[in-house]
Amino acid sequence: MAEVSLRQVVKRYGGFQAVHDFDLDIAHEEFVVFVGPSGCGKSTTLRMIAGLEDISGGEIQIGDRVVNDLPPRERNISMVFQNYALYPHMTVRQNQGFGLRMAGRPKDEIEKKVNRASGLLGLKDFLSRRPAALSGGQRQRVAMGRAIVRDPDVFLFDEPLSNLDAKLRGQMRTEIKKLHEKVRTTVIYVTHDQVEAMTLADRIVVMRDGRIEQVGTPDEVFHAPASRFVAGFIGSPPMNLIDARTVASDDGVAVSVPGGPTLPLDQSVFDHVGPDRPVTLGLRPESIAPERMAGPMKTPFSFSADITLVEPLGGEALLFLQMGQAEVTARVFRPSTRLVPEKSVPFLTDLAEMHLFDADTGVRLN
Ligand code: ATP
Repeated sequence: MAEVSLRQVVKRYGGFQAVHDFDLDIAHEEFVVFVGPSGCGKSTTLRMIAGLEDISGGEIQIGDRVVNDLPPRERNISMVFQNYALYPHMTVRQNQGFGLRMAGRPKDEIEKKVNRASGLLGLKDFLSRRPAALSGGQRQRVAMGRAIVRDPDVFLFDEPLSNLDAKLRGQMRTEIKKLHEKVRTTVIYVTHDQVEAMTLADRIVVMRDGRIEQVGTPDEVFHAPASRFVAGFIGSPPMNLIDARTVASDDGVAVSVPGGPTLPLDQSVFDHVGPDRPVTLGLRPESIAPERMAGPMKTPFSFSADITLVEPLGGEALLFLQMGQAEVTARVFRPSTRLVPEKSVPFLTDLAEMHLFDADTGVRLN
């Protein structure tokens, strides 16, 4: 049975619809991440699950209860916010135990739970400090500790790391992942950072304009994005999205890049795509490499391109290419020779990793 179910959930603010017919089942102990650009409705959806926003239509179920009309405190959820929301006059110990004290739990139970959470989060040495005497990362840990001690059915995280600098964000991301492995509670996590989504999630929900664009494992949304939007949003640097056209070829249908190569299309794609159709060709930077340093590829395809710029990044390098009229990025790992701008360089790309989208609707075609 699903731990959390959303059925046709809608949110309207006056005449504006922020969330459209949201349908999702989240399993017990699953880590689900809502990701999407600013304003796509991630926080609104999370806040409706928490009970901090009314829903305008549909049904939300947590465990075996429909919670539409239950106040937040009766939903058995804990929420961790971006701004931590700690009480400044209380110590770390008091902050973590606050919810349990308000619920009238016995002192020894509170102490045991606070000690356990502090142990899990490495907060034992800070228990008598106040928030002002803690770093951003430590404050975020206290906020998580406060959520853990309540033994919720579901943890809700709303952009918990966005106030931290890049390095600390990376560290805290790892800690959240480890914590989930220890605590095994259902988690719903909101972020606009696709790296956080890819590294933390069992399943990612990509949202756009208040609708679900795709639900899938990190592998699925990366390797088989359902639309051009998802393809461009997940992955860094983003997928190359090239305006192209299908053309009839000797073997069936191929994709032609204006002024550049013509890539054969897989047999299974022939029938429904057809010739003379505007399409968006998607190639991940990781699946393009100069022939002399390309790794193994399932279905290698060679073409020639000019390297216009090289960005060395230590263990890898980004190459900017001119592929016909299209500007394309390639990501090369551990380049064996020095790379410099150069004309007519032989390149390989993997046709097995090629993506094709309808030019108008952006829907995946292959
Ligand atoms: P961000 O990453 O910027 O937090 P988000 O995806 O979480 O974005 P939401 O905060 O859920 O987006 O907002 C979704 C849409 O609903 C936005 O267009 C926002 O302007 C609108 N919205 C949110 N709260 C209200 C409100 N109280 N009244 C009117 N519109 C609102």
